[in-house]
Amino acid sequence: SIKPAAAYEDGAEHAQDGERKTPAMIGAALQKHIEGVDPHNCEAGEEDAFFVADIGEVYRQHMRWKRNLPRVTPHYAIKCNPDPMVLRLLSALGAGFDCASKAEIEQVLKTGVEPSRIIYAQPCKTKSYLRYTAKQNVKQMTFDNTDELYKVKELCPGAELYLRILTDDSASLCRLSQKFGASMDNTQELLALAKELDLNIAGVAFHVGSGATDPSAFVQAVRDARTVFDQAIDLGFHPHTLDVGGGFVSETFEDTAAVLSAALDLHMPPTIRIIAEPGRYYTSAAFTLACNVIARRTVEDRDTGVKSYMLYLNDGVYGNFSSIMFDHQHPIPQVLRTKRRPDAFDYKHYSASSESLMDSGYSSAEEGSQDFATGKPQIEYSIWGPTCDGIDCIAEKWTSAETVDVGDWLYFEDMGAYTKCSARRFNGFTDKHETVYVSSEAGASALLGF
Ligand code: PLP
Repeated sequence: SIKPAAAYEDGAEHAQDGERKTPAMIGAALQKHIEGVDPHNCEAGEEDAFFVADIGEVYRQHMRWKRNLPRVTPHYAIKCNPDPMVLRLLSALGAGFDCASKAEIEQVLKTGVEPSRIIYAQPCKTKSYLRYTAKQNVKQMTFDNTDELYKVKELCPGAELYLRILTDDSASLCRLSQKFGASMDNTQELLALAKELDLNIAGVAFHVGSGATDPSAFVQAVRDARTVFDQAIDLGFHPHTLDVGGGFVSETFEDTAAVLSAALDLHMPPTIRIIAEPGRYYTSAAFTLACNVIARRTVEDRDTGVKSYMLYLNDGVYGNFSSIMFDHQHPIPQVLRTKRRPDAFDYKHYSASSESLMDSGYSSAEEGSQDFATGKPQIEYSIWGPTCDGIDCIAEKWTSAETVDVGDWLYFEDMGAYTKCSARRFNGFTDKHETVYVSSEAGASALLGF
């Protein structure tokens, strides 16, 4: 469902680079959705977990990208979150797209994107997908081994090839170099084979690992890319594009952009086109997930009599919390609504923690222990997903001053990257969760017509 931006505009503030902006809007959308769920009479599925997506956040990240990396054209890595509204927005903003499969290419083409704005950035491709890309005129693609070159020669000889090189990905969250990338010892041989096969080397690609925290990884990779450009030129190719991959994270974006820009200016003349494949940078903060507490188990310490609770939510590691397993994330629960506090989500102070609720004079904890540093009562919880699998744990320990019970709602921020894209129907739970869209940026609303 698309909600008109005007419905949520109260309280939206303007923010600087990297700063969060949309407290009231997201809070109002979360509250409005759960108000429509009658906990006593709702149909199965009506209380399912759902997302609120602030499409304005994606817009801001794009503007931030353009300010800090004006030379680099982003090709959004749709594997990270193939949300149709995100694709529509980024397409309208002129971004390109990084696709890894036929289905992703198909989705991007259906959004109305020209084939020339797509890079098939999977060095080891399925043959039938290559036949499809040839038919669709999607020409840009990466490779990193000789077998792939023979495959491309057979099925897509007009391809514009990017030789993906190995990088030092040791400072990244999700390492990719054990699987992809030609070592610098092999690049000469690969280029020579491409020449022999009369293929077209359009440039070089790399990826420093997803969730890269050390900007210096980009510096070495650009230096190595320069070496490969020179090797290609010596063989008579005319490489024209460098693809610096993904790995950008919001927290360190400005630092990374500065270091990368300096390396590009040093090694790549302005005639070389630069593209990138950012994924999580664009969507991570834009999506907030709300989950319903479907069950609770009380655990009483025999010695002290102190009670703690196991909370069971209707989403877990086989669903949108797949990011815990696949993306090494630790999502942090926050209280959205409890029976005693229907307005527990303090959307006027969006990041309100239990602490600020206590500061405002509110106290609810009757069980649990005290935080001796602050003297405030704290209840201890562990948070679990809905499946019958013991591995389905969202947080082993979470403390709150709030009493959370069956039917209450929790929410989790920063759930936009590598979450719903890998959700499964394990145990029969849904993998299709509703997304309520809001827009905290007039520019985004205008482009999307809402
Ligand atoms: N490009 C490729 C080839 C990838 O494998 C990935 C992630 O695995 C990305 C881009 C996106 O990376 P990130 O989300 O860290 O920007």
